[in-house]
Amino acid sequence: MPETQSPSSGFSPTLPTGALVRSPIITIDLEDWFHLLECDAIPGPEAWGTLESRIERNTNRVLALLANHGIRATFFTLGWVAETYPSLLKTVASQGHEIGCHSGLHTLIHQQTPEAFRMETRRAVDAISGCIGLPVTAYRAPGFSLTSQSLWAFELLGELGITTDCSVFPGRHAHGGTGGLFPPGPFKLECRNGMQLREFPMTLAQVGPLDIAFAGGGYFRFFPYAMIARWIRANPDAMTYFHPRDFDEGQPRIQGLSALRKFKAYAGLKGAHQKLDRFLHEFGGQSLGEASARIDWDQSPLVRL
Ligand SMILES: [Zn+2]
Repeated sequence: MPETQSPSSGFSPTLPTGALVRSPIITIDLEDWFHLLECDAIPGPEAWGTLESRIERNTNRVLALLANHGIRATFFTLGWVAETYPSLLKTVASQGHEIGCHSGLHTLIHQQTPEAFRMETRRAVDAISGCIGLPVTAYRAPGFSLTSQSLWAFELLGELGITTDCSVFPGRHAHGGTGGLFPPGPFKLECRNGMQLREFPMTLAQVGPLDIAFAGGGYFRFFPYAMIARWIRANPDAMTYFHPRDFDEGQPRIQGLSALRKFKAYAGLKGAHQKLDRFLHEFGGQSLGEASARIDWDQSPLVRL
């Protein structure tokens, strides 16, 4: 079990208040409509190039919204996207957004051996940094698949140059989640080799007995705007996780999904683009790097693995 040392201020994120305006951390996982996880109907990576490509159009629509609102975001991209659409990634970076890694081929961490994880992530980090000409220092696991069984991944990420991670889902998640293992707000993580990472967990809202995400993916599309707005007011610097496909009503529908998966993948697509526009207008947004620079990390909890 990891051991946590909490400063006297407790676990609450230590963002300064006062003159600085607090706003949600806008992150976008850069992948296409067919990058759903654990779905037998989707062919393997060798066939992705034969599927309809919607990532450029969808990403450009998100970029336009961000530009309209003057917001810098952080894009976690697949290494596959960097290798397949290098000009798209260059466009995102040229507009001032930060670029992190979201694995190479969207493989769940807990389905990999450490060596396979290292190889896939190294190739992705190299492809991304080669494309944008900058080091890659931020990471998010596909499907928040960092679990209590795969904590070894932190050390390997650190060895690959990752200094900030956004893979912790401090509750239950269909593809991962860390339950109550870690603090719910930003914290420092010390690996067994002494290396430290900065962790930004996904922000969750308490609904009855459930901890649920509300600022990303299907949750953002499904919940009424008023509820999301209320949760954001209670968590002004909440972590978000959008995908370009979340705003693409015309995307092909994958056949054979369970009713629940279908709902999660496609509920609320109509109007989601306008919903994001309204969200960004009302709450603004900041990139991961901007948020990190505002945190007093010395006062943040330290978790030792
Ligand atoms: Zn993903």
